[in-house]
Amino acid sequence: MFKFAIIAPVLTMAALAFSTNAAAQKDDDVSWSIAIHGGAGTIERDKITPEKDAEIRTALNAALAEGSKILKAGGNAMEAITATIVLLENDPNFNAGKGAVFTWDKTNELDSSIMDGSDLSAGAVAGVTATKNPILLARAVKDKSPHVMLSGKGADQFSREQGLEQVTPDYYATPRRLKQIEDVLAKQVSVKDVDYKFGTVGAVAMDSNGNMAAGTSTGGMTAKRWGRIGDSPVIGAGTYADNRSCAISATGAGEYFIRLGVAHEICTRIKIRIRNTEKMAEKAILKRKNQEKAVKFRLGNVRLNDEAVQKIADEVIAELGQIGGTGGIIFATPWGQAGYSFNTPGMYRGRATSDGAASVSIYGDEE
Ligand code: ASP
Repeated sequence: MFKFAIIAPVLTMAALAFSTNAAAQKDDDVSWSIAIHGGAGTIERDKITPEKDAEIRTALNAALAEGSKILKAGGNAMEAITATIVLLENDPNFNAGKGAVFTWDKTNELDSSIMDGSDLSAGAVAGVTATKNPILLARAVKDKSPHVMLSGKGADQFSREQGLEQVTPDYYATPRRLKQIEDVLAKQVSVKDVDYKFGTVGAVAMDSNGNMAAGTSTGGMTAKRWGRIGDSPVIGAGTYADNRSCAISATGAGEYFIRLGVAHEICTRIKIRIRNTEKMAEKAILKRKNQEKAVKFRLGNVRLNDEAVQKIADEVIAELGQIGGTGGIIFATPWGQAGYSFNTPGMYRGRATSDGAASVSIYGDEE
């Protein structure tokens, strides 16, 4: 098993001067960061009661606090995102675990995935029907099977064999979700209207060792049929983590995220940006003959600043919009940034970093 270490910064002043988007970081910095989401969509003030608004913020704050506590105590990113997502899955406000949306056949089919950026190990499940916490099943696939993705009956069987907590269908059901599917089936509302907010949950983090992880869990889209699977369990579309670039979890209209490979695309663009910045700095150093041999550039020497990372995420989400997709992503980077990008009116979201920053937001006009 290989590990991608985050290489300590060795940029010289000359290199820094040429990499306009690089920011220096003190050697003794111990940093961590986490971002979470609870879905994106037409989340607007006039569509949410003040009570619901408060309930969602309380839930997001609790999940963020759980992840932050683990990271602050030196815990790893994988543990932090797993614990965070379990809390969100157990909360009926979100479309994951308890409170998952119903399929056309009035069943619940849950999708989830998880990825470790230190070795690119990953696990995913699609269409599972009896596991209380699908994120734990995705993690079991990653850690205890030779596979990356299991689906349907086989995934349910693997879950039982792993001794994960099983539930009966009534566990997932909530009156709100039942009403939604009944309204759709009675043709009283269109699926589009029901899904005015999606409710998928996800978390991404970087721990104090520079390791990154990402995870996503969902009930999918209301009234989905024919074994439809969205982006959430697809590594590279809904979830991706790589210590060398970023950790991403997505939410939104899954078909578009799959077509664009959104999570992997953002990480790849960050990697390319790092490489280009390194090349620019390398050229500049080589011009200075006396330093020719003194500086060796390796991946990890360059750090992208907040604006550079945000721009890359925003560009990919803009492209998602261009092909008709709505939704958003949360990101964490090897440089301790945690943030979001979305093209919907709102996204349930939160972020916290070792700098002491912590915030939870719902609407697009909030920080
Ligand atoms: N991305 C999920 C899916 O397409 C839905 C969501 O994020 O709300 O299944």
